[in-house]
Amino acid sequence: MTMMESDQLLRVEDLRVEYLTEAGRVRVVDDVSFNLRRGEILGLAGESGSGKTTIALAILRLLKPPAVITGGSVVFEGRDLLSLGEVELRRLRGRKIALVTQSAMNALNPVLSIGEQLADAIREHERVGRRSALERARRLLDLVDIDPDRVRSYPHELSGGMRQRVVIAMAMALSPSLVLMDEPTTALDVAVQREILARIARLRQERDFSILFISHDLSILLELCTRIGVLYAGRLVEAAPARRLLGSPQHPYTGGLIRCFPHADEAPGPRPRLVGIPGAPPDPRDPPPGCRFHPRCGQRLPACQRSAPALTTVATDHEVACHLTRS
Ligand code: SF4
Repeated sequence: MTMMESDQLLRVEDLRVEYLTEAGRVRVVDDVSFNLRRGEILGLAGESGSGKTTIALAILRLLKPPAVITGGSVVFEGRDLLSLGEVELRRLRGRKIALVTQSAMNALNPVLSIGEQLADAIREHERVGRRSALERARRLLDLVDIDPDRVRSYPHELSGGMRQRVVIAMAMALSPSLVLMDEPTTALDVAVQREILARIARLRQERDFSILFISHDLSILLELCTRIGVLYAGRLVEAAPARRLLGSPQHPYTGGLIRCFPHADEAPGPRPRLVGIPGAPPDPRDPPPGCRFHPRCGQRLPACQRSAPALTTVATDHEVACHLTRS
């Protein structure tokens, strides 16, 4: 993903994460590189186990053993986060980079009102009085379409969708320049999911921050994101602007993901049959040689089992790792 230096907010370069186990090293993120521009929503797509959550946790240096970052760099606003000390990292988390995860219930404290939790999040990083932090908490709730008087409510008194919006409000509390959203709507029903996605898109326009949005659901990413990177078994296999990815996917895995769901841009007329991708992702302890997708790929060539394809630029802002693109 090439771009002007000044546009760049985050640069992940050759990031490698391994599980260091007694049986040996298991590579779960394999030399992944991508850029995130200021103000954009970049999607990371992939099935469970593709490495997308591990990448988000690696960016924030929140991985727990046995997962260890064993290579690469994560440069955010010009600083390599992998070389920062714990004090600097704590200052950065929440204030500059916020994380929204799938489970709002786990992110919220059940015995504190949501107003107190929002105020605490503000006071942890800023010297403000309790009263003014609570006033900001009210404005934050309003920002995510929740009645500000709900500051006194406890998490169990809110619906699942409202709780997730509180977590998003909490992420917004310190006006970060980057929000990592890891499957933030997956636990919600479709109607609530759509409301929250629309709210996220409006918030991004109003407050001008960037989002790294992680989902197994490519249809959500195609609606919300500017660009999308597709991960398979720990490797980035394709990256392109969202519309180009939908209209002209180059990697057979991306094509398979797109054929798995109906999408909003479908031309009128009979709907194409939805088809799943046969097989399952490989066991990371024993990945297949060559292209990791080859056991499931209907278009594989003899070379695919022997050598792993490198990520190659096929058009402006469009990269693909597949031997077909060079044949
Ligand atoms: Fe299929 Fe070969 Fe391309 Fe892998 S490199 S996706 S096996 S054609």
